[in-house]
Amino acid sequence: MPRVDADLKLDFKDVLLRPKRSSLRSRSEVDLQRTFTFRNSKQTYNGIPVIAANMDTTGTFEMARVFSKHTLFTALHKHYSLEEWKKFAADFPECLEHVAASSGSGQADLEKLCRILEAVPLIKYICLDVANGYSEHFVEFVKTVRGKFPNHTIMAGNVVTGEMVEELILSGADIIKVGIGPGSVCTTRIKTGVGYPQLSAVIECADSAHGLKGHIISDGGCCCPGDIAKAFGAGADFVMLGGMLAGHDQSAGEVIEKNGKKVKLFYGMSSDTAMKKYVGGVAEYRASEGRTVEVPYKGDVEDTIRDILGGLRSTCTYVGAAKLKELSRRTTFIRVTQQSSHMFG
Ligand code: 5GP
Repeated sequence: MPRVDADLKLDFKDVLLRPKRSSLRSRSEVDLQRTFTFRNSKQTYNGIPVIAANMDTTGTFEMARVFSKHTLFTALHKHYSLEEWKKFAADFPECLEHVAASSGSGQADLEKLCRILEAVPLIKYICLDVANGYSEHFVEFVKTVRGKFPNHTIMAGNVVTGEMVEELILSGADIIKVGIGPGSVCTTRIKTGVGYPQLSAVIECADSAHGLKGHIISDGGCCCPGDIAKAFGAGADFVMLGGMLAGHDQSAGEVIEKNGKKVKLFYGMSSDTAMKKYVGGVAEYRASEGRTVEVPYKGDVEDTIRDILGGLRSTCTYVGAAKLKELSRRTTFIRVTQQSSHMFG
């Protein structure tokens, strides 16, 4: 008989953060920097733990140049060639502190990753990204990569449940990417019926990871700075953003004029658009699990960064957290039926 888990599971839209008494005078006093030492690589991280997603529109070298100035992190997409990496590393070595090289779990991907890491020894992070982190093959792949690169910090995912977070950490990953289906251009839930409400996934996966001294990334589903604050409040060590970073000068693609408005294309990494671009189309046996959308052109990502970091600092002052590190300890979520007024749209 199929089992039904009747426990309530929540998304960002289902909660708000309860304000708490605070001795902070101003949001300028809030420290968003975090320091982590990773379980398996033993490496130390310092920075503001917000990550540009390894999508080919957002995980770009241009994004990394701006993000690294703020100590923000960029998971560079896996489609850059070795030559492009070498040029980036030679021109902007200061950016390499806060970037990851990405790979899928195929043999060709792994070979390319090895060549990049060999050519650019300053890269300290690897992002192993597959749509379904539950496969045995992926677990074996994480072990293989850990064996080849004992000192690199490995991000791996995506999963949404504690037991799989534990398995990937015990297989050599340091930071687990959490999220199946919440993404802005993801259609997994529609095409497959599979998923897990993101806030609950983060709460449960953070608990499992932290028990093993591992870390997690909340990946997908953040539509506004408040959602990022909720992800950190739920226990995420890092928060990864795709859609919120789309449409900027630093996002890949041309600005298009459409009915007098400027737009840029943004698409899922398993959308028709991405599959046509990289593998010549969607294979017979699979459905595309990503959408292609036109997002309004938003100019320089600096403005969006200011908005995000300003929002986060403000969240911390509302709940009395002098540091981002304290945010989850100061978090009480309240369930709500409405997020904000709809009066003006
Ligand atoms: P967003 O911040 O846009 O809500 O979510 C970004 C995340 O969506 C990415 O980091 C990645 O995990 C996920 N994603 C990106 N492209 C696709 C896709 O084509 N299909 C699915 N299922 N997820 C995607």
